[in-house]
Amino acid sequence: MKTLERTLSIIKPDAMKKPGATGDIISMLEQKGFRIIGAKMLEINKAQAEGFYAVHAGKPFFDSLTNFMSSGPIMVLALEKENAIADLRELMGATNPANAKEGTIRKKWAANIEKNAIHGSDAEDTARFELSYFFAGYELAR
Ligand code: ADP
Ligand code: MG
Repeated sequence: MKTLERTLSIIKPDAMKKPGATGDIISMLEQKGFRIIGAKMLEINKAQAEGFYAVHAGKPFFDSLTNFMSSGPIMVLALEKENAIADLRELMGATNPANAKEGTIRKKWAANIEKNAIHGSDAEDTARFELSYFFAGYELAR
């Protein structure tokens, strides 16, 4: 049986800067059946980016990634759908857009392995952490 899930997505600063990308990405999400239950545009600082990506602390790309994520506006989205976590990962495409399949968001909008347009939670526990990082319960639609 499929279960209704929630996941956290972020339209990253590179995509936010590209004319037409933000609306197109939201449209691709809606066309796949994701219901937007929370959304906000904001800019996070370096420390907030480090907190969000704490699981990657120590990796060679951590400093550059957190600089990038705090370099401009982002849009954080709380999404709901059956099988949302895995389905969002599939719609996003591979981390490195060079390996992303046709029809995926990263294939269409990502520039490179770092500036790859979109984030999506990778598991139930990370989805719970990431949703609570950006949204209070009262901010989510019923
Ligand atoms: P994903 O976003 O697909 O879950 P990861 O969790 O492995 O990928 O990495 C988090 C983010 O860190 C990626 O989306 C990307 O922006 C960046 N990143 C990952 N690997 C690299 C790398 N080798 N070089 C530069 N940036 C990277
Ligand atoms: Mg990840």
